[in-house]
Amino acid sequence: MPEHTEHQLTDTEVEHLAATLRRRRAELATAEGVRIGQGTVVHGLTTHMWAGIEVPAVSCHAAADPLRLFPAPGAVTCRRCLGRVRAERGQVPGQTELWP
Ligand SMILES: [Zn+2]
Repeated sequence: MPEHTEHQLTDTEVEHLAATLRRRRAELATAEGVRIGQGTVVHGLTTHMWAGIEVPAVSCHAAADPLRLFPAPGAVTCRRCLGRVRAERGQVPGQTELWP
């Protein structure tokens, strides 16, 4: 197995990854929140763009790997996510580094 690195991916690898990510995003599309792995905290769900692909992510950026996200029933309990939902209203994507 190759290590997961940021090296240049081949078209085949990108396509495979894109299909996996699209499927995962579809699985999460109807979820109110997501858990990270076996965690008990429910995070808010957002979408990031990666290589032109819409990738599911948590609002507080607690986890970078979308494949570790699982749909969770019920309301978001992560305080950072709840804060960000309000803070990001009207904010330009990609300018989330305004917070010190
Ligand atoms: Zn969170």
